[in-house]
Amino acid sequence: MQQGKRLSIYLLALASLFLNGTSPTKAQTATIFEGARLITGDGGTPIENSAFVVEAGRITAVGRRGDVRAPAGAARLDLTGKTVIPALVDAHSHIGYMHNLTSGPQNYTRENILDHMQKFAYFGVAASMALGSDFGELPYELRDEIAAGKHPTAARFVTAGRGIAPPQEIRDMRHSAYRITTEAEARAAVRELAARKATIVKTWVDSRGGTIPKLEPALYTAIIDEAHKNNLRVTVHATALSDVKALVRANVDGLAHMVGNVDDELIDLLKSHPNVYFTLALGGLRRQLYAPWLNPPHHLISETVSPEQIKRLQDRMAKGPSANAQQTWERLSAGVKRLAAAGVRIGVGTDGGGQQGDQFIGWTMHAELENMVAAGMTPTQALLAATRTSASIVNLDELGLVAPGKSADFVVLDDNPLVDITNTRRIAKVYLRGQELPRAAMAAKWQAEFRTASTR
Ligand SMILES: [Zn+2]
Repeated sequence: MQQGKRLSIYLLALASLFLNGTSPTKAQTATIFEGARLITGDGGTPIENSAFVVEAGRITAVGRRGDVRAPAGAARLDLTGKTVIPALVDAHSHIGYMHNLTSGPQNYTRENILDHMQKFAYFGVAASMALGSDFGELPYELRDEIAAGKHPTAARFVTAGRGIAPPQEIRDMRHSAYRITTEAEARAAVRELAARKATIVKTWVDSRGGTIPKLEPALYTAIIDEAHKNNLRVTVHATALSDVKALVRANVDGLAHMVGNVDDELIDLLKSHPNVYFTLALGGLRRQLYAPWLNPPHHLISETVSPEQIKRLQDRMAKGPSANAQQTWERLSAGVKRLAAAGVRIGVGTDGGGQQGDQFIGWTMHAELENMVAAGMTPTQALLAATRTSASIVNLDELGLVAPGKSADFVVLDDNPLVDITNTRRIAKVYLRGQELPRAAMAAKWQAEFRTASTR
């Protein structure tokens, strides 16, 4: 009895310490952000001189300054002169592999994955979806821990789990994929992913320049059919026009890369399958032709990437573009214009963190937005792709909009990205789940790590 009483007094004291120490009172939890140009993420006209209220990590009111009432006791933050956008979402990345000058499954640790998710957050990216390179228990554990709020400075980790691939495709980052040669194996792999609550299924339909047999239509048809039976979607790496058409006819949900050519037949097919989405992953090609952000490196790159890794990419880029890079870019950008004009669903997928390419984590989002505009999309279309559309692709309804009921994940910019899309890089503050990210402390930690690494 005595012991129980002492315990309950102790618990009460602990609770009050917790409440006073870390959990603000209701009045303190509400904040009204006033004066910014607000791009809500719905693709509409921005709200000039806006106001929005954040309470307990959620957005509760949005409107014009003066029309939105602050709850009693709310803190006020003046954002006059700033532009606010929803936090960005990357629907195609490879997380946990890259670490300084090495890339591979040996780097796929809890620490490295969390480091990548913190880097995404630092760049204003609230969620990133790893497409088919994850393995083991870690992706599911970390996804669930971040969703439960255990890592407040990390972006949400969305996982497709292990990809599904024919034997010849299983190398590099596809080492973790389910090896399938029969429909039964394909269906079993999908059912396992469904049991793990993977967000989407990833597969590859690519002859790799005629060097390997492509995944057979019968097998991808089985993957798609089994996925849909299990309430899962399928996204495919495919770049040949004939494969993309066949996949759309087979009811695929997404294409992880831009298709090499866009013709009338594809546009008609996409119009009759309006939910099919594309992410474009233009960065690897475009930076061969245009990467002023690398020389000298943009400060966001210097803050998050080790000097030796930056130098390696500078050295590679100094060799100049591959022979047909300009021609390929022109062909792809003509296709992007056609897809956008036809109202095809376009999200942002950067392929960031990819094995071969120094696809700097987080930075690739901002480079890709610029690439999409260079390809002919408007800044409004590109931002819509990176916010509401990508949030729906990664199945996170709480993201993608600054609107009542959504999670308070947004980026405060020093200038307007609708005037110049590269203004998405002029990040003043990032908020995740209503909390301002301690960006200066995060950058200081990375600088200390780079110093230690270079003196080893
Ligand atoms: Zn990829």
